[in-house]
Amino acid sequence: MADISTQSRVDLRSDTVTRPTDAMRAAMFAAPLGDDVFGDDPSVNALQEKLAALLGFEAALFVPSGTQSNLCAVLSHCQRGDEYIVGQMAHCYRWEGGGAAVFGSVQPQPLAHQADGTLLLADIEAAIKPDDPHFARTRLLALENTLGGRVIPFDYLHEATQLAARHGLARHLDGARLFNAAVAQAAQVAAGRPEAHPDAHPKRVDVVSEARRIAQCFDTVSVCFSKGLGAPVGSALCGSRELIERARRIRKKAGGGMRQAGLLAAGALHALDHHVERLADDHALAHRLAKGLAGIAQLAVEPPQTNIVFADLVGPARERSDALLAHLAARGVLATGLYSLRFVTHLDVDAAGVDRAAAAVREFFEA
Ligand SMILES: *Cc1c(COP(=O)(O)O)cnc(C)c1O
Repeated sequence: MADISTQSRVDLRSDTVTRPTDAMRAAMFAAPLGDDVFGDDPSVNALQEKLAALLGFEAALFVPSGTQSNLCAVLSHCQRGDEYIVGQMAHCYRWEGGGAAVFGSVQPQPLAHQADGTLLLADIEAAIKPDDPHFARTRLLALENTLGGRVIPFDYLHEATQLAARHGLARHLDGARLFNAAVAQAAQVAAGRPEAHPDAHPKRVDVVSEARRIAQCFDTVSVCFSKGLGAPVGSALCGSRELIERARRIRKKAGGGMRQAGLLAAGALHALDHHVERLADDHALAHRLAKGLAGIAQLAVEPPQTNIVFADLVGPARERSDALLAHLAARGVLATGLYSLRFVTHLDVDAAGVDRAAAAVREFFEA
C-alpha cells in the first residue's frame, strides 16, 4: 500500500473515510463557537435544533460518535438490571464493545435476524420477560436502519415499534445511516411519479418526509454525520427534552462533553444542508459496482439497496478472501472482509474508482 498515493486510492472500506470538502472546511472554519458544556456553543445548538426539527423531536444532543450516541440512548432508557431487545448483528449489540453491559449493567437480549434484516415479531414478543424476579426487566427495543446497507421496510418498523409500545417498551433507532434509508425510500416515491428520472437526486421534501416518517416510530433516534453525510466527526441523539437531559448526564460521564465543539457541528450542519440528497449518487455507484462484479462465478453479490455492496466468496474461493483483499490493496483498492467482502461507496469515490475496483476483483479470479 505504501507506494499508492492517497490520491489514487479507491477506499471502499467504509463511508467514514471521507475527508471534508473545501466548502465544509470553510463552514467549519467560519463557525461561531462557544463552550458547549455550558450549553452556549451557537453552532452545536443550531445543529441540535435543526436535526430535532427535521425529524420531529423536541431535542437533540451532539455527541462525538455513533457508539456514544447509542450508549447514551440505551442508558437513558434502561437502569441497571434492565435489558434491551436487539438484533444479533445490530451495531449497538455486536460492534460497540458491549458498552451498555460494561458501563450500564444493562443486559442485551439478542435475537436472530430474518433474511431481510428484520426481527420476527413473534421472536420479539417471546423475548419480552414477564414481571418476575427471575428475569431482567425488558425495557427497550433497539432497531437499526439501514442495517448492513439494507433498508428495513417501513411497515415492519411501524408494526414492531407498535408491538413494543403495547408491551410498555421504549423504542430506539440506530439510524447511523437513516438518511440513506430515507433517500432510498424517497427514490421509490419518485419512481411512482411520471416526471421521475432514475438518476436524479430525490426531492429534499420527499427525503425529509421519509426520514421523519421512519424516525417518528421511535422514542429516540441516533444519526451519524461521519458516515455517508461526509462530516469528519459526530453523531446526534434525538428524543424528548426529558430524555435528552438524561442523555446529557451520561454523555458527560462518558467523557463526551466537548467544549468548542461547534467547529465539528458546523461540518455536520453543512452536511445536513448539502450532502443528504446526494446520497443517491452513492447508491448509484454501489449499483454500478455490483453490476461490475456480476457474473464472476466465485462471487455471490447481494444487490445493494443503498451504499454497501456485500459479496460472498463461494466454493473453494471461500478460503481466498485474505488473498483477494491483499491483491486489491496492492492495486490501491481498499475493502474489508470480516464476514463477507464489503465495499462501501461515498463522497470520495467516483465511477472510475468503482470500475477500477471491479476490474481488480475480476483480475484476481482470472489470474
Ligand atoms: C458506524 C455506526 C455506528 C457507530 O458509529 P461510530 O461513530 O463509529 O461510533 C453505530 N451504528 C451503526 C449502524 C453504524 O454503522
